[in-house]
Amino acid sequence: MQKYLSMHFFRYIQNELYAEDIPVRELINEYGSPLYIYSYKTLVRHFKAYDDSFDSIPHLICYAVKANSNLSILRLLGSLGSGADIVSGGELYRATKAGIRPSRIVYAGVGKTEEEIDFALKKGILMFNVESEQELKKIDEVAGRLSKRARIALRINPDIDPETHPYISTGLKEHKFGIPIEEALEHYRLAKSLKNIDVVGVHKHIGSQITSAQPFVDALKRVLILVEELKKEDINIRYLDIGGGLGIQYESEKPPHPKELAKRLLPILRDSRMTLILEPGRSIVGNAGILVTRVLYTKPGLGKEFVIVDAAMNDLMRPTLYGAYHRIVPVKKVRRKGIIADIVGPICESGDFLAREREIPQLKPGELIAVMSAGAYGFSMSSNYNSRPRVAEVMVKGKEHYLIRERETYKDLIRGERLVEV
Ligand SMILES: *Cc1c(COP(=O)(O)O)cnc(C)c1O
Repeated sequence: MQKYLSMHFFRYIQNELYAEDIPVRELINEYGSPLYIYSYKTLVRHFKAYDDSFDSIPHLICYAVKANSNLSILRLLGSLGSGADIVSGGELYRATKAGIRPSRIVYAGVGKTEEEIDFALKKGILMFNVESEQELKKIDEVAGRLSKRARIALRINPDIDPETHPYISTGLKEHKFGIPIEEALEHYRLAKSLKNIDVVGVHKHIGSQITSAQPFVDALKRVLILVEELKKEDINIRYLDIGGGLGIQYESEKPPHPKELAKRLLPILRDSRMTLILEPGRSIVGNAGILVTRVLYTKPGLGKEFVIVDAAMNDLMRPTLYGAYHRIVPVKKVRRKGIIADIVGPICESGDFLAREREIPQLKPGELIAVMSAGAYGFSMSSNYNSRPRVAEVMVKGKEHYLIRERETYKDLIRGERLVEV
């Protein structure tokens, strides 16, 4: 089975890193550094890997917008038939701006505000994935005021350990997400009794960067037992939303291909006559993007070197936030002795690093390196910390390239601020 490592279009040709059919160096010459570069073909391939794998049953893929919310990426996925999994009013705004139809949008999150609920009801989204009793009542109230019926699923917490990083695990009892599965039935009864609520689904999402199919199987089995219980109460579930969370290869992980996931899940789902919803984020965009950065300086440290580059934790927060590993490769392969180095940014924090104690070939100022697998939770988590303008984003398609987000300027940094003398 094809693994994710080979599933992208960044590769060397004669010792030079290419994004599809363009040398990365040329893109940097044109757009500057640091730069996020995405591969069109990779995005299409990853989306289709899901879509084709679940072809034999009614299904809808709702791409998780928070992984990478660039309008052009949303537009591309939407054009392939993707819906959207959103977690805020802002994401709803983006998704619909990019042309994703509201009837393909599902909305999760523990803290939806009244304004956001109002906005989503007016847009007519497919369903709210509701995370508490109070939220359910709030949605009922807002829908009543608008004379609408709100379609909902309850987000069930199946108490399954996905064996991933604690910060990106969401389906255990101690987490803030969803409704404990033991309390699901009473919540569904309540939902059914509310005048402006239309109960249509069950939702679960147990975490991210999950590298085995087993937790998905275990969680699905628990949820299907619930669906049967609901039937007895005359609550008929039409949408079974199993969330996202499939992992990718950053280092040596061996996550299942969507086809393998489908092979495990489809036999359990046959004859269920529900529409299956999947919410992949990372596994669609993660390996479809890289962050390219230039070496500014190098200096010796204690037992290692520091390679100081022009990208920082504000551009890619995952190493700092989770201690996450990203492969780092030179844009031009060189034959030099290896060193052990911390690859760090210019930000005034000791936690500002892209890699720690990494074995790499000696680098010189001015040379370019690529941080691999940076397409998911990269740009979307970026900030202006240290008053650093956020970087540009480019999409490559064969020999063509498109600027899909301009590099910010100093002016952008102070937009909305007021110079008040107090
Ligand atoms: C974050 C999230 C996803 C996407 O997770 P990935 O690991 O990126 O696939 C899907 N559904 C919900 C509810 C989420 O919060």
